[in-house]
Amino acid sequence: MIEKPKIGVYVCHCGINIASTVDVETVEEYALKLPNVEVARTYSYMCSDPGQALIKEDIKEHGLNRIIVASCSPRMHETTFRKAIQEAGLNPYFLEMANIREQCSWVHQDMEEATAKAKKLVTASVAKVRLLEALESTEVDAEPAALIIGAGIAGIQAALDIADAGFKTYLVEKTPSVGGRMAQLDKTFPTLDCSACILTPKMVDCASHPNIELLTYSEVEEINGFIGNFDVRVRKKARYVDFEKCTGCGDCAKECRVADRFPSEFDEGMGKRSAIYLPFPQAVPAKYTIDPEQCLYLTRGKCGKEPKCQEVCGADAINFEQEDEYVEFKVGAIIVATGFDPFDPSRKPEYGYDDYPNVITGMEMERLVSASGPTGGKVLINNGKEEIEPKEVAFIKCVGSRDESVGNEYCSRVCCMYTAKQAHLIREKLPDANIRIYYMDVRAFGKGYEEFYDRVRRENVRYIRGNPSEIFKRGNKLVVKAEDTLTSTPLEDEVDLVVLGVGLEPRAEMRQVMDLLRLSQSGDRFFLEAHPKLRPVDTATEGVFLAGCCQGPKDIPDTVAQAKGAASSAMIPLARGSVTIDAQVAEVNEATCRGCGFCVEICPYSAIEMVTVNRFGHEIEVAKVNEALCKGCGSCSPACLSDSIQPKSFRDRQILPQIAALGAMK
Ligand code: SF4
Ligand code: SF4
Ligand code: SF4
Ligand code: SF4
Repeated sequence: MIEKPKIGVYVCHCGINIASTVDVETVEEYALKLPNVEVARTYSYMCSDPGQALIKEDIKEHGLNRIIVASCSPRMHETTFRKAIQEAGLNPYFLEMANIREQCSWVHQDMEEATAKAKKLVTASVAKVRLLEALESTEVDAEPAALIIGAGIAGIQAALDIADAGFKTYLVEKTPSVGGRMAQLDKTFPTLDCSACILTPKMVDCASHPNIELLTYSEVEEINGFIGNFDVRVRKKARYVDFEKCTGCGDCAKECRVADRFPSEFDEGMGKRSAIYLPFPQAVPAKYTIDPEQCLYLTRGKCGKEPKCQEVCGADAINFEQEDEYVEFKVGAIIVATGFDPFDPSRKPEYGYDDYPNVITGMEMERLVSASGPTGGKVLINNGKEEIEPKEVAFIKCVGSRDESVGNEYCSRVCCMYTAKQAHLIREKLPDANIRIYYMDVRAFGKGYEEFYDRVRRENVRYIRGNPSEIFKRGNKLVVKAEDTLTSTPLEDEVDLVVLGVGLEPRAEMRQVMDLLRLSQSGDRFFLEAHPKLRPVDTATEGVFLAGCCQGPKDIPDTVAQAKGAASSAMIPLARGSVTIDAQVAEVNEATCRGCGFCVEICPYSAIEMVTVNRFGHEIEVAKVNEALCKGCGSCSPACLSDSIQPKSFRDRQILPQIAALGAMK
């Protein structure tokens, strides 16, 4: 017997978010007159504990069996209210939300019109809610292991936290060593800790941790499955060096026939490395790698009479027969920590980065001042004629940030402070240098940042408000052409060295990770989080989390904090040992499915496959939904010409009356 609907309608003020534009009392009165509505109420914050209690009490007292909450978007609080009505004994899917905030009060000013629209949205919800069916979510086991993609500070921190909690952790890094960008830094602002001193112990820890399997010089090639059950395939690229035998002695690199011939990536091209190399002395693992694009033997098939590296390696570790290997494993959660690319200043040709050797980037400056850098920490630059210690130094901030002309409107959040830090380091090394920083604004927002900025100014570093328009050469000097906008003074400032405070950009190769994990990008092209405030480390793909600069520019403290957040979120399914699969998924009517596969092609989550079934003695193909992958997005439904696939709770028989109710209102 079909139960008679007894509906409760709860109209939220949302403080004044809704109530300042929508007359919530009028909507309440109106709702009471709609068919099958037994109770209607308003409350200041329906999602709060007293608001939820109101709903629960009414369910018990009035025997309500369908609930409508007229408030914010279901993306915000659908789960909250589902849980509340379930606690009162109702099926959690007997809930409908009328979005009178995002779709009404926030987009209208006129109270009368907004109130009329809120009434319509409530009417439409009443038409639908009584047609909802009871749904049951399911539980599936979760593999107690995690995959982290990227082993910079974000990936390292997340891996250590998950491994310390007792879960198996696979840390995959595409370069030969862990460490990422932080390993390249000299000191970190504002405390001036030596970057290597605080990072290298963590690098060593993650290599020696019994729960961490480190896969360096490796790339994730394939990921299938869903939260709790991801199948991962990783390609371990051939190093042409036996990992077990190599002692890291470095004899091969010294004796390589093309020793110290190629730009070192770690030293931003300012130092050189051999075809067989360790990226930097503290690299983890301390195992050498042959670059297949530079090694004479691998590119030409010949390196002298016999490869010199092979000749000198006492450990017999060189192995040109080595091939890529594939490893496969299962994990319950994935953290993406793929980092950022520094902005390429060649895209601002007016700054002459490609033309003058003494125009360098902030990253190059890091290597120049670092004791482990190509000059041993001496600030020596080539002015096109000779190598000198610069006397006149200019920094330019916001290069490639807050700049519509290069498509980056966002602030990179670190350039203000790393520029100040580098100015301080130059002041330490060159006490007599004249240092100025060209800036648009100074954003010293973090703990101790404003104090550090003040300190740098007291160290006789001049801040000039103005965005230089051009850099050109005059004799042995570079001329920075700018305007001091505080005094409206045009400047032609002659300097020996220009440091471009380049910003942070999304990684060029992020598309590959996006496709593997079905991730989206936000307007700034970094990975999009599920909700900027309430789910900042989650993504739209359940079980996949974000850590560090792949989600947006951030400094080291924020990166570490976010990595810890991502680790704790990723550990929820691992610790529970199971995951709940939402019941609001698509369903196929096998009797009418024509097996065309249109839905398979259109599903953005790859949640549909074709399977063979026996219909009246004939083997036929029909669509089948993997409920663990389906997000209930509904994209498949319009693609199906025979109306054979529809998301539960959004079936035609549920939404057409809703549309009709809207159409019937004036
Ligand atoms: Fe030393 Fe051989 Fe390893 Fe090179 S490959 S670092 S020579 S052990
Ligand atoms: Fe260097 Fe020759 Fe060995 Fe290649 S084969 S790494 S070029 S010594
Ligand atoms: Fe795929 Fe969306 Fe259809 Fe689910 S509802 S099967 S996720 S298209
Ligand atoms: Fe079946 Fe419709 Fe999918 Fe075609 S689009 S396979 S008819 S469910």
